[in-house]
Amino acid sequence: MDVFVIGGGAAGMMAAIEAAVSGCKVTVFEKNEKLGKKIYITGKGRCNVTNASDMETIFANINRNSKFLYSALYSYDNNAVMDFFEGEGVRLKVERGNRVFPESDHSSDIIRALERKLKSLGVEIRLNTCVERLIFTDDACIGLELKGGKKLLADKVIVATGGASYPATGSTGDGYEFAKSAGHSIVTPEPSLIPLVSPAQWVRDLQGLSLKNVELTLLSDNRPVYSELGEMLFTHFGISGPLVLSASALYSTEKGKKKTVTLELDLKPGLDEDMLDKRVLRDFDEQKNRQFSNSLEGLVPKRLIPVLVEKSGIPAETKVNSVSKEQRKALVNALKHFEIPISGMRPIEEAIITKGGVKVGEINPSTMESKKKKNLYFAGEVLDIDAMTGGFNLQLAWSTGYLAGRSED
Ligand SMILES: Cc1cc2nc3c(=O)[nH]c(=O)nc-3n(C[C@H](O)[C@H](O)[C@H](O)COP(=O)(O)OP(=O)(O)OC[C@H]3O[C@@H](n4cnc5c(N)ncnc54)[C@H](O)[C@@H]3O)c2cc1C
Repeated sequence: MDVFVIGGGAAGMMAAIEAAVSGCKVTVFEKNEKLGKKIYITGKGRCNVTNASDMETIFANINRNSKFLYSALYSYDNNAVMDFFEGEGVRLKVERGNRVFPESDHSSDIIRALERKLKSLGVEIRLNTCVERLIFTDDACIGLELKGGKKLLADKVIVATGGASYPATGSTGDGYEFAKSAGHSIVTPEPSLIPLVSPAQWVRDLQGLSLKNVELTLLSDNRPVYSELGEMLFTHFGISGPLVLSASALYSTEKGKKKTVTLELDLKPGLDEDMLDKRVLRDFDEQKNRQFSNSLEGLVPKRLIPVLVEKSGIPAETKVNSVSKEQRKALVNALKHFEIPISGMRPIEEAIITKGGVKVGEINPSTMESKKKKNLYFAGEVLDIDAMTGGFNLQLAWSTGYLAGRSED
């Protein structure tokens, strides 16, 4: 059986490997000059290749359509991924949050292992080859047309063209057009795992300030939908960093439901309000005659002080020994509920992942085959699936790629 795989990213390479293992004659079409351009930049160049948590945790980290992914994840789970790469000579290590990386810290080792396997299985790799459209009969996909007009026929076509983020890596959303031409619906692609934009000048003025050990909470109509401890960063447009990227996944979901979404920080998550009040009292005791605005250096980074003073509502020049109990309460509240105004997300081109894509209700979850056209399959980020950071998105690419490659007509 002749199998065409469109896209030499994570999902495409895994699909091609599995199809070749199943005895098919496989060709990968990749429009870039090399395979795995996006893998190369994953995990800041270290490639967080999967996550070593249990299945329950993996499913809990999938933001959309987790049920659709049951077959894929159980057919090819995180252990299978780790076994594959270890078996191909890539030693792996597990870091904080069960994130799995190559021991070398080089994403290129992951790409090389996949390339070696493809070559050893005799998979034909056509680089610098852009697929323009799919070719159909009434009820089946029978091949593809390359840019330039050349038509090629196959028994099975797997679309693994990725999403629409980081287009310089080749993921320019071509798969959505292929899917539409087959009669599929596309859930509007949107950015996810993306920095957030703030309309407030004071936020942008804090550019470069990084906060560690803070708790970020995202509230939708005043109900917490995300809360996590970690790091964040102020930038020239708003906020970024690990906590913010994760929160953004929920931000877009809640905005989609037309909810009012707000974001606040707990700057002292280790102390409850009572403990924090005692701590503030202690600090005040030691600095009785100072101005209020000069008494906060032990509590928060210096650059945050003017904003905190403003949020507390206590006049900056107030003498510490004349700050009232009520005013102290307002300060504690400002520290525990430090609101950062948010107006939106950065553009999809800057997103770690694309939310949305080919509607999964139109795909057979046990095979990844299209329900619209026979012999047409989809795998990876082109589908309407997405997950949190931590190696989960690549796991989805490996699992769906594996299933698409394996499935028989
Ligand atoms: C900066 C960054 C860091 C990330 N870090 C991590 C991480 O550490 N861990 C993790 O789990 N996830 C990470 N992700 C997400 C992860 O990289 C993706 O989810 C994953 O690569 C998706 O794989 P894919 O094969 O579906 O698509 P892609 O990797 O995007 O591959 C699609 C391929 O198809 C090719 N293609 C597209 N159209 C055509 C066409 N018409 N003809 C021929 N070829 C075509 C493209 O050139 C591309 O090579 C990161 C993403 C980014 C942007």
